[in-house]
Amino acid sequence: MALTVIGTVALDTVETPFGKLTEGLGGSATHFSAAASFFSPIGLVAVIGEDFPEKYLDFFRSRPINLEGLAKIPGRSFRWTGRYDHDMNVAHTLETQLNVLLQFNPEVPASQKKNKFVFLGNIDPKLQSKVIDQVEGKPFIAADTMNFWIDGSRPDLLEMLKRVDMLVINEGEARALAGESNLLKASRTIRNMGPKHLVIKRGEYGALAFYEDQIFNAPALPLEDIQDPTGAGDSFAGGMMGYLAKINSTSFQDIKKAIIYGSVMASFMVEKFSLDRLRRLNDAEINDRFLRFSELTHFER
Ligand code: AMP
Repeated sequence: MALTVIGTVALDTVETPFGKLTEGLGGSATHFSAAASFFSPIGLVAVIGEDFPEKYLDFFRSRPINLEGLAKIPGRSFRWTGRYDHDMNVAHTLETQLNVLLQFNPEVPASQKKNKFVFLGNIDPKLQSKVIDQVEGKPFIAADTMNFWIDGSRPDLLEMLKRVDMLVINEGEARALAGESNLLKASRTIRNMGPKHLVIKRGEYGALAFYEDQIFNAPALPLEDIQDPTGAGDSFAGGMMGYLAKINSTSFQDIKKAIIYGSVMASFMVEKFSLDRLRRLNDAEINDRFLRFSELTHFER
């Protein structure tokens, strides 16, 4: 196994114009590991409470996802409640219950300490730093975060950012983190905080990747059926990191391809609530959609 993720494993209650899910399987590390597992085996470092439904654990067991680093501790599981209106690019958080996250002390299993790829999914930046403390060698470390931590834990976030190779965040978060509305300027400010690579997720408009003086603009596939955008960002990162772990490369050329695989995984994730689309996804469908992305932007010059 070459890839480890830390993040939340959650019970999500989500309402969109197309339906409602109550206490479904969610969390940043859940969506990430589900998507990454189509490319590479992955180790999950996260915490759940005693109330976490066994049937949700069966989903992880049905995929090449190692659960050695998944701690079960007394208390209630992390819960997130959100709503999407007609602009499905914007998640409105109604409630965040940290619960067991407050007691969580992440431990990277000995068998995963030398993994060459590490993803610090959206979670308290103090916990992200604790994972960096435990990994050995020089892994490629990418991180995600969100407004909840940008606004509430900025000093811890800035400490963590000094130690990562890549930051993957959405457009609004990039502006908030940099304190700058122009994305090009924000990208420079953020890369001065530590990460050499920056990937900005732009929802239905795709993603932008920045490295040194190069920029890559990835499209998003125009989709007719979007039921629930929850997990789009995490499955994007999961597809991207899973592909990089699979081919064992971090060149900018390969990162561009990895971003398209990430976009493919996000495009499947949003078609159904929770992880329902990924439960019956196969490699042929992934490859087929990868080709559609390539056709979408191909032109003769
Ligand atoms: P996204 O990929 O950005 O749509 O992330 C959605 C997931 O993030 C949901 O399944 C939530 O459980 C999880 N989440 C929401 N708020 C937080 C938070 N403050 N920290 C960590 N994970 C969160």
